[in-house]
Amino acid sequence: MHDDTALTLGRASRVLRERIIPAVHSASRPLEVAAHELPGEPIPPEEGLRLEFSPYTVGTPWGPAWGTTWFRVRATVPKDWAGRQVEIAVDLGFDTSRTGFQCEALVHRPDGTPLKALNPQSQHATVLDEARGGEKIELFLEAAANPEIHGSRGFVPTWDGDIRTSSTDPLYVTRRMDLAVFEPEVHGLALDVQVLLELAEQLPEGRRRHRILESLDHALDVLDLQDIPGTAAGARTCLVEPLSSPAETSAHTVSAVGHAHIDSAWLWPIRETIRKVARTTTSMAELIDRTDDFLYGMSSAQQYAWIKEHRPRVWQRVRAAVAKGRFLPLGGMWVESDVVMPTGESIVRQFSQGQRFFEREFGIRCKGVWLPDSFGYSPSLPQLMRRSGFEWFFTQKISWNQVNVFPHHTFAWEGIDGSRILSHFPPMDTYNAQLSGEELAKATSQFRESRRASGSIAPVGYGDGGGGTTREMVGRSRRLSGLEGSAVVRWEHPDDFFDRAQEELPDPPVWVGELYLEIHRATLTSQHRTKQGNRRSEHLLIEAELWAATAAVRTGAEYPYAELDELWQLTLLHQFHDILPGTSIAWVHREAQAAYEQIQERAEALISDSLASLVGPGDVPLEANSTPFKQPGLPALAVGAPQQQATPVQLTQLDDGAVELRNDQVAVTITGAGHIRSARDLATGRESVAPGKEAGVLQLHQDFPNKWDAWDVDRFYRNRVTELRDVSSFAAEVTDDGTAVVSVERRFSTSSLVQRLILEPGSRTLRIEQSTDWRETEKFLKVAFPLDVRAEHTAAETQYGFQRRVTHTNTSWEAAKFETSMHRFVLAEEPGFGVALVNDSIYGYDVTRDVHDADITTTVRLSLLRAPRFPDPETDQGVQTHVYGMVIGADVADATKAGIEMNLPRRRISGRSGVSPLVRCTGEGVVISSVKLADDRSGDLIVRVYEALGRRADGTVFVDAPVLSVRDVSLIEDDLDQGVDAEGSVDVTLRPFEVRTLRFTRA
Ligand SMILES: [Zn+2]
Repeated sequence: MHDDTALTLGRASRVLRERIIPAVHSASRPLEVAAHELPGEPIPPEEGLRLEFSPYTVGTPWGPAWGTTWFRVRATVPKDWAGRQVEIAVDLGFDTSRTGFQCEALVHRPDGTPLKALNPQSQHATVLDEARGGEKIELFLEAAANPEIHGSRGFVPTWDGDIRTSSTDPLYVTRRMDLAVFEPEVHGLALDVQVLLELAEQLPEGRRRHRILESLDHALDVLDLQDIPGTAAGARTCLVEPLSSPAETSAHTVSAVGHAHIDSAWLWPIRETIRKVARTTTSMAELIDRTDDFLYGMSSAQQYAWIKEHRPRVWQRVRAAVAKGRFLPLGGMWVESDVVMPTGESIVRQFSQGQRFFEREFGIRCKGVWLPDSFGYSPSLPQLMRRSGFEWFFTQKISWNQVNVFPHHTFAWEGIDGSRILSHFPPMDTYNAQLSGEELAKATSQFRESRRASGSIAPVGYGDGGGGTTREMVGRSRRLSGLEGSAVVRWEHPDDFFDRAQEELPDPPVWVGELYLEIHRATLTSQHRTKQGNRRSEHLLIEAELWAATAAVRTGAEYPYAELDELWQLTLLHQFHDILPGTSIAWVHREAQAAYEQIQERAEALISDSLASLVGPGDVPLEANSTPFKQPGLPALAVGAPQQQATPVQLTQLDDGAVELRNDQVAVTITGAGHIRSARDLATGRESVAPGKEAGVLQLHQDFPNKWDAWDVDRFYRNRVTELRDVSSFAAEVTDDGTAVVSVERRFSTSSLVQRLILEPGSRTLRIEQSTDWRETEKFLKVAFPLDVRAEHTAAETQYGFQRRVTHTNTSWEAAKFETSMHRFVLAEEPGFGVALVNDSIYGYDVTRDVHDADITTTVRLSLLRAPRFPDPETDQGVQTHVYGMVIGADVADATKAGIEMNLPRRRISGRSGVSPLVRCTGEGVVISSVKLADDRSGDLIVRVYEALGRRADGTVFVDAPVLSVRDVSLIEDDLDQGVDAEGSVDVTLRPFEVRTLRFTRA
């Protein structure tokens, strides 16, 4: 017979789209609408309900960018609708080709009960399940006119990303505001047709496919297109047989979990996220109430905390749904943070603040870490997850790799210390699944562990203001619970999925080391002030805890638990994976700046109050050393009198305009152009700078990626570069304290910068303080250090340790890593000699191998500034500061120490007397990372140590306070053992990069 496949598919597709779906609402009548438009900041719903309303005609433009329009809608249900399900059907002016990212609304009842959200793909709210007829309906729509920042226009600069610069014109035009009858049979038919049509599109040629096509034709023949509600039931009977044919026993199983990936800030400010979360969770609580097996999962304690604080009526619904076991808190983190740039202590706090919240509010501890969308995953995470009590890890992002396809979907991920965690990437390659035929076919065909494992996870629902899971997705899941030719779908808690995965794959494939994301590499550099604010906040809070704990133990001062929790939470929020990476609109980064200023001010106040109570009143000049390393004349974590100055640095003017700076450790030659021609270690005589090269040269690249401006740098950026060699001023001096300072000013295009190259007495670090008045667009500024070191690897600091990356590009995996991450140091080393680069706020670097006389040298470049124009058209414009340094003759221990010292500078204070350390430790490579009082407010002392050098270490931790016992606790301070009686010290044996947390119970 003739092949009518395309004809049937085309027919079903058009009838579904143009006839069946529009008939889901049959009888309808316009609502009586009144409106009140509020430009600017939103008001609480209780106030919105009490506004004065003016008549509004559907079709009238509404909503200046970021404003809120409150619509009041009224109607009387017609008598002849008795017995029917009645809904409102509202089109606010949605772009239905997109799932979210635009206007949306939350529907409130007159008593303030939140009913459901209205979104592009979910334009209804059910008002009456069974009308009597004659009811008076009144509802209030809190409609947000969020502008589309990244719409059909692509990555085009826009001023709508800040309420201070956005357009005041109305953005949307309402198309429909009706009261309507919902037709369950038509809705059912739409889902029947859609599921079978999408399955037929994916099936291979064969009888199953042809039987489905035949049934679809029959159903459409039965359907009267002029009377769809009247003929839908008859059409559905033709589809019973193909829909009841059971799935094969070997079918792939999809563990669906309702989901809405709501970025905590991105193309909208934090205040709008609070409302996005309120809208989506209301809809999800409503969907849970209307279904019996649907499960919805939501991560981020912060998002729950927002609803609790700002939307108490929504919170009631969420709490009830959580109590039913249908609304699942996931992930155990404060937010879905970036996990490449935050320090180890920050990751620990993401876990501890997240788990404490879920435990306090719901009595729940999350068993897994849920991070579908962060931009790469550091190799420290397996240990940090395991030592915080997590059993599994979920992400999806690595499917975005530009070059290499990740070889596993369910696997064990092994970190730098050897810890492993069971991990899963959904083979569907999305965290916004709709359960379409295409997605299910992809899950089946792409899943890499099919030989032994039966299934994968699908996070189902529209994120970011799309409203989460729809009733259509739930309807599809019912039809897909066992359908011949399709993957089998069931709603399932991810914990249960991972339990089964563990059984099916007792010996899973292993991936060792970082999960590098081969895209979005520029997120290590964009929005420098945000990154600097994060780095400073992290270190200030560690300092505040150290001195507050010391003061609490020594002087009985009150430990500022609540203040520290609040400041940590604010810091953790801004580590969200579109804030710290620098990929949000201007508004978000402007507010981040204000948040960091607040954190800095409040943390400084905590530090100075604690230090003041410790040193007492007086005017003896003192220095506080917050680092875990002793300084000349000053123990670690102590306050003491500053030591007498060492021999001043010698400054010699050379004939060619260069100067030589020399102390008892190193000699550095700086050219008249301000570049480092030579940097010698005096003990070994080794030169750091590659022959014929100069270090510290600023390199300006053209940087216009193919898309994702703030996120991406594409490899071709390297092909066009300008070296900033001109100087407009040069001066060299030795200051009163014996420090040599070379000052250089440069101008380039419309920008300018000042550098101070500083060598202190006794120091091996040439420190560079740079202030740049940055006026570039679409440029990338790097500073290059060609080193006379033949390094096979670089060692870059990450959380509680470092990671090695090879310097060659033998394979596509290595070539793809042309821009990589670091924390406070990166080290290039050959046996016997190395050079480290340390920094106070830089996260990106690249490395290349150069040839000199058949010898290989290593060039390391730090990434300083970018200037993308989307989503913030003025990214990084204005004055930017950096501090970085070259540690001449360094190994990992030196690099670790210099990196920490640069971020925890000594504090000059005055008082009566110094303070001996509350905690100290011995053991090569054993580093104290945190001294604080316990989160449970018992007054116990928490001391966290880690092994920093990547080898085994024995050490002893001493506490100079009366203690009764000590025990090992998890990173989030759960007991791991019974503890032992202890007096003032405990011995520790650490494996390479092991992190240990000790809890001392005070006498
Ligand atoms: Zn995201």
